[in-house]
Amino acid sequence: MEPTRIHSTMTECPVCGNRTLEISVYVYEVPLVGKVLLDVWKCSNCGYRRSDVGLAEHGDEVMISFKVKSPEDLGALVVKSSSATIVIPELGVEVSPGPAAQDHITTVEGVLERVLDNVPSECFDESSECNKFVKDITRAMNSEKEFTVILIDPLGKSTIRKWGT
Ligand SMILES: [Zn+2]
Repeated sequence: MEPTRIHSTMTECPVCGNRTLEISVYVYEVPLVGKVLLDVWKCSNCGYRRSDVGLAEHGDEVMISFKVKSPEDLGALVVKSSSATIVIPELGVEVSPGPAAQDHITTVEGVLERVLDNVPSECFDESSECNKFVKDITRAMNSEKEFTVILIDPLGKSTIRKWGT
C-alpha cells in the first residue's frame, strides 16, 4: 500500500528559524506489522530533513527479547522508532535512539548491516584489535552464531515480527 498523507502543517524550522518547515504525517500498512505512521520534516529554506516511524496503534513501553537462530530469524521485520534502543549483548552492539537513526523499517540482518557500515575501516584488517567484532557480526549475518536482539522503546512504537508466526 502506498503511504497516504493524513496531515500536513507549516511551522518554524529548528535549524534556520524560518517558517518554512513542512511536517507531513503519512499512514501506511506494513505486512506483519499493521498500520505505521511516518513523519517527514522538510525545510524548503535550509534543507533540514528528518523522518520517523512508529506503530499507529501502540501502548506503553515495550521490551522485546528476540532470539536469532536461523536465516528466517535474520529476516524478521524490525520497526525502529527514534525512541528505540537496540542491544545485542552477544555481539557488543548498542544502537541508541535519536533522530539520526536511519532504516526505520528494516530486518534483523539490516540492523547488523548498518552496524558494519559504521565500523571504522581499520577493523576490517585481520591484525586490528577490533577485527573480532567485525568477524562476529559477519558470522551472525551468516547464521553461524546465535544472538539475541533486545529492543526497548519507552513509547511502545517499535516492534520485531517474524514471518509465519
Ligand atoms: Zn530550515
